[in-house]
Amino acid sequence: MNINQALSIKNEKRIALLDEASKKRDELHSRIPRIKQIDKQIEAFAFRLLSGESAEVLKAESVSLNEERARLLSAYGYTADYDEPKFECTLCNDSGYADGLKICECVKSLAASESYQESHLAGGLSGKSFENFSLSYFSEENGERKKMQDILNGCIKYAENFPNDDSAGLIFFGGTGLGKTHLSAAIGNKVASKGISVIYESAQQIFDTVDAVRFNRLDISERKKYENCGLLIIDDLGAECITQYSVSAITSLIDLRIVNGRKTVISTNLSPAMIRKTYGERLLSRLLGEFRVLQFVGKDIRMQKIKGV
Ligand SMILES: [Zn+2]
Repeated sequence: MNINQALSIKNEKRIALLDEASKKRDELHSRIPRIKQIDKQIEAFAFRLLSGESAEVLKAESVSLNEERARLLSAYGYTADYDEPKFECTLCNDSGYADGLKICECVKSLAASESYQESHLAGGLSGKSFENFSLSYFSEENGERKKMQDILNGCIKYAENFPNDDSAGLIFFGGTGLGKTHLSAAIGNKVASKGISVIYESAQQIFDTVDAVRFNRLDISERKKYENCGLLIIDDLGAECITQYSVSAITSLIDLRIVNGRKTVISTNLSPAMIRKTYGERLLSRLLGEFRVLQFVGKDIRMQKIKGV
């Protein structure tokens, strides 16, 4: 995870904690009207100070109001810090910045956290975001850019609402170099930034792992992580070495995730007809029936970049 993503996780947590604290404060205000009055009086201090009132007087008033507040809370059975936000990091109060505008240590350690490294999104894929997905490689003339704009918007919406979607996930169809990897990694990064476990792997890596578990070369937990993670992203389905066993492994994995209500994002260079031929009718009907289908269009972006078109 990069620092920006870690900052955004921190920020979301901070907002949630502030929100929780504010709900608790509302609860106190409706149960104990005197506390509402006290909080209003305390809030007015800043304004009174600006209007020229003596800081000494205000301070004394504040001490006495806070004491009264604490007494009331205790009398009603609340702790004195009941409606204070409970920040995880006391150095930065979860703002991500401490000591002026320096990035806090908690953000750095989150960015380097093991769970994110395990998702395989670290490294080259960590920089892929919706913001840096360029539509300029897609031609405007035949409606390709419009089509890709819709796909981009669909992916953003999917990631933002994740996991609230009634499909089993997304399937990206289309040739190489049309941005399938970029957008699936961007979804992974966004979902991981919500603190949800994400695994991004090529179909080949998944088969290698499942196969190694089958022959006891790896612990079964290595296979279970594909079944249990919040979002599994299978890159390049169809590029793996196809055997009867690999076909049954992928089909069962996808089935199991559908049954357990877990989401999967799949990208493939194969056409639906090729999927039927390679994996059989059953997997194809799962993919077309339960997943949102996104058909990528255009010319190979990587080739265009090389040629400088
Ligand atoms: Zn911190």
